[in-house]
Amino acid sequence: MTEKKKMRRREFLKATGLAGLTLPAVKIVSRANNTEFLSSREQYGSFLVKRNSIGNPVYRVDTSRYKRFVEKDTMFSRSHWDQKTIDMEKQYQGTELQRIKNKDPGYSLLDYSFNHASWTGDNNSFYKWTSSRSWPGKALYDLPAWKPDDLPPREVTDIIKKAALFYGASMVGVAKLDERWVYSKAFYRRQERKDQQGPVEADIFIKDADEPVKLSENNQVIIPESCKYVIAMVLEMDIDASDAAPTCIAAAATGNGYSRMAVTAGTLAQFIRGLGYMALPQGNDTSLSIPIAVDAGLGELGRNGLLITPKFGSRVRICKVFTDMPLIPDSPISFGATEFCEICGKCTKHCPSGSIMEGPRTYEQRIFSNNPGVYKWPIDPFKCYQYWQENGTDCNTCIYVCPYNKPESWLHDAARSLIGFKSSSLNKIVLELDNACGYGEEKNPSKYWKKN
Ligand code: SF4
Ligand code: SF4
Repeated sequence: MTEKKKMRRREFLKATGLAGLTLPAVKIVSRANNTEFLSSREQYGSFLVKRNSIGNPVYRVDTSRYKRFVEKDTMFSRSHWDQKTIDMEKQYQGTELQRIKNKDPGYSLLDYSFNHASWTGDNNSFYKWTSSRSWPGKALYDLPAWKPDDLPPREVTDIIKKAALFYGASMVGVAKLDERWVYSKAFYRRQERKDQQGPVEADIFIKDADEPVKLSENNQVIIPESCKYVIAMVLEMDIDASDAAPTCIAAAATGNGYSRMAVTAGTLAQFIRGLGYMALPQGNDTSLSIPIAVDAGLGELGRNGLLITPKFGSRVRICKVFTDMPLIPDSPISFGATEFCEICGKCTKHCPSGSIMEGPRTYEQRIFSNNPGVYKWPIDPFKCYQYWQENGTDCNTCIYVCPYNKPESWLHDAARSLIGFKSSSLNKIVLELDNACGYGEEKNPSKYWKKN
């Protein structure tokens, strides 16, 4: 890089306050047959991670069967139109109130308020698709857009990643946007447009357009095809609160994750718009978060139907930003999670609703809230959601019991190194060790408030 370019980069980072923040250092440990093995304490914990080539991800899709998913069929959408789900939800508040009155562990008024407050930031306004034509510098001072033409795209990507970590992401990756993961129809449960009365379904179009439209008057969503990249971010959920599953305390870890997702995605999008580019922030809306996170090199899909990251297991929430800013995509990673899920099944055993499959993966759907055509372990989201109603709050047990959900220690480091070898007999030893240590057994949630 020339001295002039170095200076521009330094000046930019200094001006944005990002100069002091460093990206996790990732070391290439070995190379063999075009495959790289990586290590990074900050990014991957103690796992040795294999970097797959772009376009060669760790999932299999039957293209003759796969169709873009319809958001209306997700469980949270179904509670706005499907009578069976609406009737089931009527149980929730009665159970919750009864458990508060009973002073069940993890359901005291303290725990309930803790959970309730944690959702405060889960606010639609952070996910607005504001115009990229009126970035703050233009509106206030008529400044030109920041066009980093003389910075290498790798530098630009690192700047955006630094900003994502600064705004609250625990891990960040970039993928080329794969249209298959974008819903074919969006479903807006909450008010998106001033005149919107009740939920609205809208066709999603990816097409040549100057501006994104989140919900037009004729119920269309427009994603400009120039938005070729997606920035995927995971946010770690608090480990002690998650370990109090399935109570209000664990639900607070989820709520806090949703609130931080909104702020992180919304703020990063505003930063990108401030530089004169398009940015479309999203939580669970508009597209499927897990395959995008897999494409962006953040983890693998687990038997529990969740993303498993090397460092935090499934104890994360995911948000993302589509953009037309030219970025360098990351490669998908594998670290033995799929192979470990094949022999583990701890989430299946502990799931109180029987929602998680035994046995091998399949291309089939279990109910219409799954999408067929991807080789995976589809969970039964209806049974899962039904349990939440009976329980009086969300569950999270499949996050808590998963052997990947561990704080860092030498013992866990040793176990993780064994998993990395992807040998079924070594994986069985790790699982036995995990069970012998009592991981996944029920804990007393009241202890949460006394823990230092
Ligand atoms: S959240 Fe609970 S009920 Fe739902 S799949 Fe996980 S363990 Fe089962
Ligand atoms: S508990 Fe075991 S089977 Fe379930 S997601 Fe975690 S590693 Fe996979």
